[in-house]
Amino acid sequence: MALGKDYAHQQCSIARALEIVGERWTLLVVRDAFYGVRRYSDFLAHLGAPRAVLAARLQALVDAGVLDRRRYRESPPRDEYVLTARGLALWPVLWALGAWGRAELPGTLPMRHFHHADCGTELGPLGECPACRAPVAPADIEMRPGTGLDPDPADPVGRALLAPRRLLVPLDPTGA
Ligand SMILES: [Zn+2]
Repeated sequence: MALGKDYAHQQCSIARALEIVGERWTLLVVRDAFYGVRRYSDFLAHLGAPRAVLAARLQALVDAGVLDRRRYRESPPRDEYVLTARGLALWPVLWALGAWGRAELPGTLPMRHFHHADCGTELGPLGECPACRAPVAPADIEMRPGTGLDPDPADPVGRALLAPRRLLVPLDPTGA
């Protein structure tokens, strides 16, 4: 019997979640959506994923209810991809993965820092604000560049992400 490419016989909730976010590039697409990336061309520029793979990942995330596809221009037709409530609920997953990477795969300088926008305090290890002693929703997080970030990235999205910015605010790499 051939091996399946999914975990059809697994009832484990981790296995079921990995059915949606476990493929290569998928969580990076979700990460960029938190950074404010919404357009196919911008995901493409920032991630450097193969075109067909990126298109398949975006479609799969729409099918899974993680991203919502919205038409923002009719002629020529252009869509953007926006995190749904189900997608926003992935923030603690991304946060924990990043924290694990920093702790267990050391040797790189921090790429980005995340602060509570209301008070400016850098978030604690669990993504909470140590000053306010409260969890911080993604929309209330300000992302600031770290010393490990390439100060002169080749792609316009990477350049736009050099400036401090709130998560989820739509990114417009052609704007100011
Ligand atoms: Zn705070």
